[in-house]
Amino acid sequence: MNTAPELFPRSARVALPSEGEARPPRGGPAAAAGAMLEIGDLHVSYGQVDAVRGVSLKLDKGQIISVIGPNGAGKTTLLAAAMGLLPCKGTLRFEGEDLHGLDVEARVERGLCLVPEKRELFGELSVLDNLQLGAFSKRLRSDALKRRLQFVYDRFPRLAERRTQRADTLSGGERQMLAVGRALMSQPRLLMLDEPSLGLAPLIVRDILTIVRKLRDDGVSILLVEQNARAALESSDHGYVLETGEIALSGPSAQLESDPRVQATYLGGGTHDDD
Ligand code: ATP
Repeated sequence: MNTAPELFPRSARVALPSEGEARPPRGGPAAAAGAMLEIGDLHVSYGQVDAVRGVSLKLDKGQIISVIGPNGAGKTTLLAAAMGLLPCKGTLRFEGEDLHGLDVEARVERGLCLVPEKRELFGELSVLDNLQLGAFSKRLRSDALKRRLQFVYDRFPRLAERRTQRADTLSGGERQMLAVGRALMSQPRLLMLDEPSLGLAPLIVRDILTIVRKLRDDGVSILLVEQNARAALESSDHGYVLETGEIALSGPSAQLESDPRVQATYLGGGTHDDD
């Protein structure tokens, strides 16, 4: 079964050992048939504070999953644990492979990437430099690097226009585009986005989420964490509601959108479009 990523079309690739070897799914055929990301009974604590308590969720290849919930629910903590930034207990598997014991770099090599809530760009560096840092691999040949850059510029033409501009002079929306673009430079198969809408105007949020949805056509699955429940549910296939570290509700996103509890707590009591 051909499970190579579609992020960069095969026709556009040269057979580079460093690129070709990095992407087969781990864990054999059973993994390819099962969930891409499997989180089971996950616990994450900060000392005495149990921030994530027994969370289970599943993401299949090609899906966009959203995790919504209020401030302090544990959303960022969940992503940080999945990325290897925090220790955790429970099941954590990516394409059938146990992620425990793999550091962040190894998880990026497997095809996971996190766009953190604070974007964490290098403000004094240019857009281009920030993107190049996202490529991660020091061994990447210049033609492969160029292809990755072109892939990002094709999806975010604004970044191409601003390639020489310092990151700290970009608008909020452009910074978010750069954060997503930088993550794409590592050729993720699963992109985890922490509050991409934070601090952005509704129209910009819509633009960014439209691009995120299109990434699925490029073979990127998405785990989207959001306080903006409406935008998240409109953009995802399946949603989870996280409250005080536990999954309170889950289901197909359209079903959650019409759930009275979700409407009352997260959608302002109605289903109208608010922008
Ligand atoms: P927000 O949307 O505000 O970012 P969140 O859902 O992402 O919230 P987390 O940031 O994951 O929530 O926080 C979950 C819980 O863990 C909160 O009670 C928070 O106070 C606590 N917490 C987060 N980071 C730390 C830390 N470094 N040390 C101690 N407690 C922390």
